[in-house]
Amino acid sequence: MRHFTYQGLPTQVTFGTGTVASLPAVLEQQGVRRALLLSTSRQAEQARAATSSLGDTIVGAFEGATMHTPVEVTARAHEALMASGADGVVAFGGGSTIGLGKALAVRGGVRHIAVPTTYAGSEMTPILGETTAGRKTTRRAPEILPHAVVYDVNLTLGLPPGISGTSGINAIAHAVEGLYARDTNPVMQLVAQEGIRALAAALPRIVANGGDVAARTEALYGAWLCGMVLGSVGMALHHKLCHTLGGSFDLPHAETHSIVLPHVLAYNAPAIPEAMAMLRTALGDQDPAGALHRLARQVGAPRSLRDLGMPEPGIETATEQALENAYWNPRPLERAAIRDLIARAWAGDPPV
Ligand code: NAD
Repeated sequence: MRHFTYQGLPTQVTFGTGTVASLPAVLEQQGVRRALLLSTSRQAEQARAATSSLGDTIVGAFEGATMHTPVEVTARAHEALMASGADGVVAFGGGSTIGLGKALAVRGGVRHIAVPTTYAGSEMTPILGETTAGRKTTRRAPEILPHAVVYDVNLTLGLPPGISGTSGINAIAHAVEGLYARDTNPVMQLVAQEGIRALAAALPRIVANGGDVAARTEALYGAWLCGMVLGSVGMALHHKLCHTLGGSFDLPHAETHSIVLPHVLAYNAPAIPEAMAMLRTALGDQDPAGALHRLARQVGAPRSLRDLGMPEPGIETATEQALENAYWNPRPLERAAIRDLIARAWAGDPPV
């Protein structure tokens, strides 16, 4: 076995069905006496209803969370936090709301309790992406990690099938890159394999029946594991490329991941025999890149970057950007092959 370092994440995790009932106890354990409730406007009502057991502990609500954590939104939420005198935030929602929770916790020095309702996995990471004047920058620091996470399967039952599928594949992408990360370790590889297995098995069942509680449980469990991987080890070409594509062409986050992942895996495959063997086991398929491409189709993810609105000349721009600022990847970055990969994702072709 090779030499490795393993650093555990100190977040307290509560998982199950109906677990929002434990929020009063969780806040008490975290020493939170007054909390600001965070959500998007779309989930404001769901957030209020699900946290009603907290009663007067919720001293205010900010319902304006949006994608990519714009700093001006954070500034408005910070004013609400200061005005409320809260000593903690309860971030209720997907990666966008939890991103806001992280930004506030870091600025305001308050406790952060996350209640995730998608599979994106941000709640398990010490990573914060923020947008200033349309430019997104990402940083990693221990104090960004939420202090406690309450996963309640019931909250995911209404997650529309389309968002379920793409946000689930976004989670799988964290674990796929975690299998071959430069700083991976045997513990994270086990976690990644189990996360991929659980999500790949559950997502088609969820798309067939969003109210399938057993499948929803399996998917949320998988999302937790995949989020742990993202929070614990470094990522590579896939995450860099999706970040670039999202930023340059304003493409939706989870959908972009769903389209790009099979192509990056096919590109890296010759350099990662150990990870490919683990993926064959996790996916029960001899062709992991093909299996992920078929999974994306099965869950109804958009078929191509073209369908997401990326213009064709963007293939050249994205190739240049992918090759900029050298970063680690298991297979060296080769211009022609990277361009081909992006062109295939743009056209909606299968991975080769
Ligand atoms: P999201 O949080 O943007 O949610 C998408 C939409 O679905 C929102 O309108 C939301 O209110 C709604 N929604 C969420 N849960 C719902 C539910 N159960 N029922 C009905 N509607 C629901 O989407 P996301 O994919 O969870 O997060 C994407 C964002 O998270 C991106 O900005 C991405 O960069 C970030 N992210 C960050 C990390 C990290 O570690 N920092 C990890 C993953 C994603």
